Amino acid sequence: MKLEFKNIADREEPFFLLDCLGCGEEISVPERDMKTTKPVECGQCSHIRYLSYREYTLITDRFAAQLLMRAGLRARASRRDIPA
Ligand SMILES: [Zn+2]
Repeated sequence: MKLEFKNIADREEPFFLLDCLGCGEEISVPERDMKTTKPVECGQCSHIRYLSYREYTLITDRFAAQLLMRAGLRARASRRDIPA
């Protein structure tokens, strides 16, 4: 399981890469979708991966420091854009 950031419409969005239980491929799930704990489908083998709330909290817990750091960097960057 990994965390990665993708640029979508000029915004950096966090994605979790989950391992498919069917074929082992990585399934990319946007962080905000994780909160809904809806099942995700593997693009390779169509295996449905169910996410429990427990799994969600485990994952976010594990990457909380990284997510916070990114959020902090983003906040600093946007403050710089405000004219004095
Ligand atoms: Zn699969």
